[in-house]
Formats: sequence, C-alpha cells, structure tokens
Amino acid sequence: MTTTAPATTQLHSDVTEFLSKQPHKLLIGGQWKEAVSGKTFDTYNPATSEAIAKVAEADKKDVDEAVKAARKAFEGPWSKVTPSERGRLLYKLADLIEAHADELAQLETLNNGKTIRESRKGDLPLAVDLFRYYSGWTTKIHGETIPVSVPYAPGAKFFHYTVREPVGVIAAIIPWNFPFLMAIERLAPALACGNTVVLKPAEQTPLSSLRLGELILEAGIPEGVVNVVPGFGPTAGAALAAHPDVDKVTFTGSTEVGREIIKASAGNLKRVSLELGGKSPNIIFADADIEAAVKGAFMGIFYNQGQCCSAGSRIFVEKSKYDEVVEALVAKAKTVRQGPGLDSTTHMGPLVSQEQLDRVTGYVASGKKEGAKLLCGGERGDGALSKGYFLKPTVFVDVKDEMKIAQEEIFGPVATVMPFESTEELVARANGTVYGLVAGIWTKDIKKAFRTANALRAGTIWINCYNFVDSAAPWGGYKQSGYGREKGPYALELYTQLKSVWVDLN
Ligand code: ADP
Repeated sequence: MTTTAPATTQLHSDVTEFLSKQPHKLLIGGQWKEAVSGKTFDTYNPATSEAIAKVAEADKKDVDEAVKAARKAFEGPWSKVTPSERGRLLYKLADLIEAHADELAQLETLNNGKTIRESRKGDLPLAVDLFRYYSGWTTKIHGETIPVSVPYAPGAKFFHYTVREPVGVIAAIIPWNFPFLMAIERLAPALACGNTVVLKPAEQTPLSSLRLGELILEAGIPEGVVNVVPGFGPTAGAALAAHPDVDKVTFTGSTEVGREIIKASAGNLKRVSLELGGKSPNIIFADADIEAAVKGAFMGIFYNQGQCCSAGSRIFVEKSKYDEVVEALVAKAKTVRQGPGLDSTTHMGPLVSQEQLDRVTGYVASGKKEGAKLLCGGERGDGALSKGYFLKPTVFVDVKDEMKIAQEEIFGPVATVMPFESTEELVARANGTVYGLVAGIWTKDIKKAFRTANALRAGTIWINCYNFVDSAAPWGGYKQSGYGREKGPYALELYTQLKSVWVDLN
C-alpha cells in the first residue's frame, strides 16, 4: 500500500470563484434563493474532512415553491418550445458542459472524493454524451396511427391515433456516488420529452448540481424548467416524493429508501422509476484470460472506491484458478496508491463521508465476526490520509454465501472472493441475493458465456468486460435492484405518457 501526502493541486479559477459564492442558494423559477427557513448546511471535502462550502438547505416549503415553479414552466413557456428548439437547447447545454468539463470534474472530485481521472475521463464525457444523445431524440418522439375495428360497432369507421406527451413535473432524487452524471441521466431524457424537473442532489454532494443550474440558465433553458433544491432525504426528499403536484419521481439510491419513495408516492399515485442497489456477481471461469479477468474484477469492485450500484462485489472463481486469482487481486490491492482525488497520481480516493466510512467498516467487522478471512485492507488510511475518509482496498476469502458481506450491498471497496465447482451451482449462487442489477462473466468459451448470461437474473451482463455503459444502452435492474430502464429509447417510456384519440368517420 502506497500512501501520499495530500498534494496541493491547483484549483481551476472557475472552481475557486464558484466556491466563493457562499452560501450557495437554491435554484427556483430561474432565481437563486435562500431557503425559506434561512438554514444552510456544510458540505465537505472527503479527502480532508474539511467543510468547503455552505449550502442553503431546502425543506418542504422550498420544495413547494420549486414544484410550483416547475408546474408553471411546464404549462407555460416550456410547452411552447418546439421539439427542434428543445433539441437545440439541450445540445447547447452539452457544449457548455464540455467547455467547463475541467472545472466541473474538479468540483465533483473535491466534493465526492473520486479521482480526477474518473471525473474527467468518465463522468464528464458521459454526461456530455447523454445530453447530445437525447437532444437528437426531441424531434423523434411521436405517436402512431392504429387501424382500429370495434367488435360491438360492426362497419363503423374511425381514425385513431396516439400522441406521446410529457408526464409533467418530475422529481429527480439522486445519490452521491456519481452526483453530476446521475443528475444528467435524469435531466437529459426528462427535458428531451418536454417535462420540467425539480432536482434534489444528495446532501453529501450538492455542488456540481448547483453549478449545473448556472449552466442551464446560461444555455437559455427557460426559468422554472429545472429547479435545484439541495437538502436532506427525510425533509426535502420526502417532501418531493409525497408532493401531490409531482407527476413522477425518478429515484436512484438504496433499496431501503426506494421502498419509502414507493410508499410516499401512493398519495397521488405518481409514477415511480427506481434504480436501486446491487450485490453483483463477477464470474471467472477457469478457461478465462486470467490476467484480463483479474483486471476486470479488480476494477469492478474498486472503481469509485466501490461506491457503485454496479460494483462486482461477489467475485466467483472456478476452483482450479481460485488461488491464482486471489493472490493476484491481493497483490494488486497492495499497490494501490491512495490519496486525494485531485492529485493526478492517485489511484483511489476516499469514501464520500464519515457515515459511509462507518457503514463500510461496520461490514468489515461483521465479515470478520462471521468467520470470513481478511487478506488485505479493512483499515483506514494512515499518516496524512487519516484526516480523510480513506479505507484501504479490502479482500475477504472464506466467505459463505449467507454471510452479510455476501448478501448486503456494502457500497465500499470490499471484495468477497468465493470458489465454485460447477456452472449449475454457480448460477444458483450468483442469483442468490435479492438484487439483480449487473453481472460479469469471464470465459473464452462463447457457448458457456451465452448460456450463463441467459441464466443470470440481472439487467446488464458484461462478457469479458465490466462497467461499460453507453447513452443508448438500457440500464436498470431485475428483482430488488429497481424497475424501469434508464438511457436509450427506453427512458422515453419513463418520461412520456400515451394519449389515445378516436375520431368518428361515420
Ligand atoms: P445512500 O444510502 O447511498 O446514501 P440513499 O438512498 O440514502 O443513499 O440516498 C439517495 C438519495 O435519496 C439522496 O438524495 C437522499 O437525500 C435521498 N433520500 C434519503 N432518504 C429519503 C427519503 N426518506 N425520502 C426521499 N428521499 C430520500
């Protein structure tokens, strides 16, 4: 394990300028406003645990105002913008994000902890691409004509057509692991379809959503179309989920909170789409390219400090290659250079918060208590890193399927590596959690790869690769990993509704 002293990375002047605008305000109806309560909360740099900004704290009253502004924009100016003009605005926003990508990547890294490499090469380009992708869809969302014939009206003639319309006011409640990207993943299709949005970023990571709010105004998107209300889950989040004038809530976060969202949505039967947790299997057959598989398994669990819903947290290895894979994973984990995400030489940054660090170390303790063997990691960063929320990359063996660390989502850099002997046994075990978000398969036998892919109950399967995503490819879970599919044309279903129109021709 290599540790570095926090490097004094030069912050982009735009980041410094943005940070100086304190306290950061809520974006409601195109205006930057203090919270009605006047309350603010601190947001932190997880690499040092220092507060970096004060942010206005939205609660129910601010949410009411934001929903009102979103409704007004939905019924007013936004409904008059043509699909082609909507596309142009989204494309312009993509260009603006791209022009500010260095600054946004730094802001994201500063607030979330992830490495600058991941922010700059992963999150930001993906976000730009999502806006460009959906800007192309705005002019291609349309209904159909249907040749109807009515059994109880023989010979009657009708002209029937469908219209695909926006759902209305969308509440987007998003988590802290990919703060900017998650916001864009919801905003791009929701706006392309003609909806308006109230965005609630996670309380841990509000900054990139607030900066995005500024760029949205700069792009010329009418006021009230996007409102940004940072605040806490049980107050601002719950108020949005229960709000009688919100038509749909799109939520990404824990399965536990997903259940709360469903309950809160019952009042006005708002639509709900959920992208929830995972406990994904990454399966290495003995005939795989072991070097590539180890790399893929390593990145699968340790990318973003393991704080990914798609983390390949259960690594299954066919018995004859088990020892070799475990040894390689542990050796690799020991060479990881941990440090502040802003330092370009850092491989792995801190976890997002003290709460998350406590949660993950709680799972490490539980794994040990249940009899799993810790081969490396499990402890906090030392020296200069002890002030931040660093946890060393952790590998457990001697793990039983029923242990908590093999069943529950840890959302941290904790791998469980388990041997298997037959494909049937493996499939049952790989499917043996309440989740079904993604799975990885490593083998050179193409038939085995397809057979296993068919048998796994997961929304995304990666064969001889891991963690690849694209704006056009569907994303979402089986079982308790959620419902609805984001991205691609599939998200258009989530953010539109169909009207069926009959015209009497008799
Ligand atoms: P995590 O466990 O990864 O922190 P959560 O599911 O708790 O993720 O949080 C994801 C998002 O849901 C955050 O924006 C958070 O504020 C919000 N949230 C948390 N609790 C609630 C709730 N009861 N109602 C609505 N939103 C909530």
